[in-house]
Amino acid sequence: MTATEQKAPSDFIRDIINDDIKNNEYGGRVHTRFPPEPNGYLHIGHAKSICLNFGIAAQYKGLCNLRFDDTNPTKEEHEYVESIIEDVRWIGFDREDRLFYASDYFEQMYHYAVQLIKDGKAYVDDLSSDDTREYRGTLTEPGKESPYRNRSVEENLNLFERMRAGEFENGTRVLRAKIDMASPNLNMRDPVMYRILHAEHHRTGNKWCIYPMYDWAHGLEDSIEGITHSICTLEFEDHRPLYDWFIDQLGVYHPQQIEFARLNLTYTVMSKRKLLQLVQRGHVTGWDDPRLPTVSGLRRRGYTPKSIRDFCDRIGVAKTDSTIDIALLEHCIRDDLNKSAPRVMAVLNPLRVVIDNYLEGQTEEIDAVNNPEDPDAGTHKVPFSRVLYIEQDDFREDPPSKFFRLAPGREVRLRYAYLITCVGVVKDERTGEVVELHCTYDPTTRGGNTPDGRKVKGTIHWVSAAHALEAEVRLYDRLFTVEDPADVTDGSGFEGVLNPDSLQILRAYVEPSLAGAAPGSRYQFERLGYFCVDLKDSSTERLVFNRTVTLRDSWAKIEKQL
Ligand code: ATP
Ligand code: MG
Repeated sequence: MTATEQKAPSDFIRDIINDDIKNNEYGGRVHTRFPPEPNGYLHIGHAKSICLNFGIAAQYKGLCNLRFDDTNPTKEEHEYVESIIEDVRWIGFDREDRLFYASDYFEQMYHYAVQLIKDGKAYVDDLSSDDTREYRGTLTEPGKESPYRNRSVEENLNLFERMRAGEFENGTRVLRAKIDMASPNLNMRDPVMYRILHAEHHRTGNKWCIYPMYDWAHGLEDSIEGITHSICTLEFEDHRPLYDWFIDQLGVYHPQQIEFARLNLTYTVMSKRKLLQLVQRGHVTGWDDPRLPTVSGLRRRGYTPKSIRDFCDRIGVAKTDSTIDIALLEHCIRDDLNKSAPRVMAVLNPLRVVIDNYLEGQTEEIDAVNNPEDPDAGTHKVPFSRVLYIEQDDFREDPPSKFFRLAPGREVRLRYAYLITCVGVVKDERTGEVVELHCTYDPTTRGGNTPDGRKVKGTIHWVSAAHALEAEVRLYDRLFTVEDPADVTDGSGFEGVLNPDSLQILRAYVEPSLAGAAPGSRYQFERLGYFCVDLKDSSTERLVFNRTVTLRDSWAKIEKQL
């Protein structure tokens, strides 16, 4: 067994697959699929499904199809198809040449439907949608059979053909499976297989005006593609008998449906419908807003594919619903960036510092470590000069105990540079606000060491005012103020619990080595957090950074308490 095989996760789905292989079900084949409906952008929940399906295929040397479940023409758009293809690739899985569209099977599905009609197992129903609902019954009461249920095969064939030919208006007729109106499982009470919808489809255009329903279509898609394990989320458990029924009645190849718990995350909403609402109502700037749990939002925020795969591995796969703390996702990106992101200095809320005894016009190049976690990463030069910016927070005129940073008369270490002592404070006469500090430096302390061995506790970051670059820095916080925004039932629902401070925009100064930083590149701003050059808005003329995550790891704390 190789190392990777040893490390492969184990869960109830893999247990099922192991048994199937042992019993030579499906001839030992493993073939999964990831079947998004192209009606929105993918989110981190989809990433869980992608990692599961593609991960299983890779682990068992099987195959995984990317299949668009594009059976609903009205909500689907080409833009979504392209973003989904890109997101799957970006997460790190290679679908090779296996890209499929359910709409390619419309003709085949139609023939399967005709077969069921001929076998007396499907019928055209003319009930209005209100009547259909009423006839369906409830959980405690059986349904009633439609008066159209016992049409002859000939009549059904004729009507179904005419439905396809476009003779009837939307909603006037449906094709239903003839199963059991008294079934305790509502999904088995003569479910609708086709509805009439005169709408243009993103791939088939106006060729069709009847469209297959999910339950009818999905198993057929799996069957046609030779899928072995059709992995879906728990809400489809009650649909499994129907999945099996259709396939059994047709007598075609029969994949196995397995359900697992969907991913829920604290402080966010996950369904595409809700995400679309946030986008359409302008609560966020688009599907790729860095505050959204969409894959494109996470990418823009600075998440790496590796951190997302790591997160999906850590949460595992279970059969009962649960909600994952978003701090775990943040922990995963921190963990990855800690190893890989170069360290640089940036000052987000600048306070001017003049070093009185440093020569005007002089500049020194100071060596700064690229990554203390990676000795091979080397160093880079940072210019030092007479006027610097430090963080406003790193100075207190009246320091509380345990505040070890700069204060009047106090000495502090400038990261990689010199020790400085604050000798003067300049205030705005009107507001009393501190606008400038005067300091002296000790020329014998270059690199931050003290030849006389005196102890200096505080170390702060800085940039040289004459050399620093201006940059826009976007600080993101949680989009919602409550753990479960979907659970807010009063008033405006989840829109009522949006965090008004989820985005804060600052004009900051960054060290000059960041000139021309490529969109998408990631850095640790020392002492502040991990930041990523915005993929859309950043340019050489105007640097824009997104804060991916702060340095403080709340997950590590939670883990300690577990
Ligand atoms: P949403 O509820 O967000 O609209 P969906 O289930 O309708 O999602 P699909 O496009 O049908 O979205 O999903 C494609 C695949 O991703 C399905 O197999 C689905 O089960 C899976 N999936 C969707 N959401 C999650 C989630 N939160 N956790 C795990 N898997 C998910
Ligand atoms: Mg769906």
